[in-house]
Amino acid sequence: MVIVMKDSASEELILAVADRLKSLGFDVHKVVGVNKTILGAIGDKRDIDIRQFEIMDGVQEVVRITEPYKLSSRTFHPENTHVQVRDVVFGADEIHVIAGPCSIESEEQLFTIAGMVKKAGATVLRGGAFKPRTSPYSFQGMGEEGLKLMKEAGKQFELATVSEIMRENQLDMMLENVDILQVGARNMQNFPLLRELGKTTKPILLKRGMAATIEEFLMAAEYIMAGGNYNVILCERGIRTFENYTRNTLDISAIPVVHKLSHLPIIVDPSHGTGLRDKVGPMARAAVAAGADGLTIEVHHQPEKALSDGAQSLYPHQFERLMEELRMIAWAIGRKIKQG
Ligand code: PEP
Ligand code: MN
Repeated sequence: MVIVMKDSASEELILAVADRLKSLGFDVHKVVGVNKTILGAIGDKRDIDIRQFEIMDGVQEVVRITEPYKLSSRTFHPENTHVQVRDVVFGADEIHVIAGPCSIESEEQLFTIAGMVKKAGATVLRGGAFKPRTSPYSFQGMGEEGLKLMKEAGKQFELATVSEIMRENQLDMMLENVDILQVGARNMQNFPLLRELGKTTKPILLKRGMAATIEEFLMAAEYIMAGGNYNVILCERGIRTFENYTRNTLDISAIPVVHKLSHLPIIVDPSHGTGLRDKVGPMARAAVAAGADGLTIEVHHQPEKALSDGAQSLYPHQFERLMEELRMIAWAIGRKIKQG
């Protein structure tokens, strides 16, 4: 249930409503918007008579949220959420491009790529140190050593950083070394992990599970937000369908669907979404045109030698050219992408 307070409602009246909700066993989440304060009452209490709130002083409206997701719902938070990482803000007018290798492989590799993507206008550096590989015999990532390189590269090139966390016991070293924690598609419904991330204040990049509906996707965000961490960026990265020509089927329509249902920013991963280098550009352009708040793109200076996902990694010159195209599309829809 959501309680919309009148513009004129004093702090005292807001507190009285919040106290009553708490006394009935609800968890109360308060959103202070530009014009209104909204109280989100979280708890499964269908038998509550909402009229007791409608008649309270300062209350404008009481709305039952019928969606199973509450905190991630736009009903609860009508304005777009802005997720800030250093000086990068996801969910505002500017579209941010995250770029970098699939895996961190060495200092030389990461720093070379970081310099190139920075020059092209990327604002966040990506790179996996713990890799969720389909085969246990494939390269599993550099681990903590890789995370330290990430921190160094972020500092040197003045880029925010993102890397994937696979399990709870990696949390301390992730918090220490990277700015955004990525939850991979395979972990979208790892509920204990999501709960742990909810206890932090770090921005979380939550990727859509490969067989997850949008409702399940938003419920996963809800797990993080229920713990008090509202800094969630959603990422559409393709879903499994009967189509095998591409690695996944990138669901571009998820962008407007999520924007309608939720206030959270949504970005798109055309690299894992297609699995094929020559399809990355067209899908990235489509994502920006469809309203994505950002992109995450794999780039490698020697993709033929990459330890993972070389076939879907762009060459730096392709990335640079793509960024120029994306800037024009962003401009056409009233948004912008940073100049390199
Ligand atoms: C990744 O971004 O490195 C990754 C493994 O992606 P996904 O979890 O979407 O497969
Ligand atoms: Mn990859």
